[in-house]
Amino acid sequence: MVAQVIDGKAFAAKVRAQVADKVAKLKEEHGITPGLAVVLVGEDPASQVYVRSKGKQTVEVGMNSYEHKLDAETSEQDLLALIDKLNNDPAVHGILVQLPLPKHLNEDLVINAINPAKDVDGFHISNVGLLATGQKAMVPCTPLGCLMMLRDQHGSLSGMDAVVIGRSNIVGKPMAQLLLGDSCTVTIAHSRTRNLPDVVRRADIVVAAVGRPEMVPGDWIKEGATVIDVGINRIERDGKTRLVGDVDYASAAERAGAITPVPGGVGPMTIACLLANTLTACCRANGLPEPE
Ligand code: NDP
Repeated sequence: MVAQVIDGKAFAAKVRAQVADKVAKLKEEHGITPGLAVVLVGEDPASQVYVRSKGKQTVEVGMNSYEHKLDAETSEQDLLALIDKLNNDPAVHGILVQLPLPKHLNEDLVINAINPAKDVDGFHISNVGLLATGQKAMVPCTPLGCLMMLRDQHGSLSGMDAVVIGRSNIVGKPMAQLLLGDSCTVTIAHSRTRNLPDVVRRADIVVAAVGRPEMVPGDWIKEGATVIDVGINRIERDGKTRLVGDVDYASAAERAGAITPVPGGVGPMTIACLLANTLTACCRANGLPEPE
């Protein structure tokens, strides 16, 4: 079997176009422009790239982008004061604090200072609780993008065996909650899981979110399974720097029914979902029907 390639780049472009369309209608019919504030503390190069890309795509869909770049020594008090200001600014519908924060800042404290209604990353403890109890939440962008691709692929996921490898708060755990919400039978695997190959071999759906280059070989994949590779790993190969996922793409593609490539799979969907979440937050803030 040769797997169908799930084109995250094309899917993300479609999602962004839908968001842009709805933003245009919001402006025309209600005079409202959604606004996303992104806060970057310090000079982490990868974070700078993400923040630039988020800002650019925010503007491209017709939203207002507010970038706040603070130096690496910013105090917790100053950062919390900025968040308070953004919480109270009616032009700002979404607030994202780029992680990781410099070591002297308490990430939990900072994230939980964001108004949950503006927490477009879905990391605030209220949103985590809402998602876990099946209530209307802001859903973390990366797992949301994965779920959208899975639904697009299968329609209903009900009754499918899903294995999520990784239990982080930003990917693994919310991914598992979303799959459970769609009535999958969910296993969460991690570094202490015994017999990982056999656990993965049971799965109709494999979501790999580990951060280890090409860790999942093709012979762990059940014939016809759908493989979603969240990993983004930079490696040196043949004298060149390359991006690879957590799944060995070449061997997995020989057994899977469908697979996301790296790059061009999950990655582009993450920012598209951030924009979709910002639009949702804006509609909720203005008492308007939510986009579908
Ligand atoms: P974390 O480092 O927070 O979590 C990694 C998880 O993998 C942990 O739960 C860890 O287990 C588990 N793990 C580590 N080694 C093994 C192993 N040998 N076998 C099984 N499980 C293992 O990473 P994130 O969740 O933040 O990110 C995961 C990957 O996804 C990274 O490559 C990251 O770059 C990428 N990513 C991509 C995004 C995108 O937009 N496409 C967005 C966010 C992340 P334990 O808990 O036991 O330590």
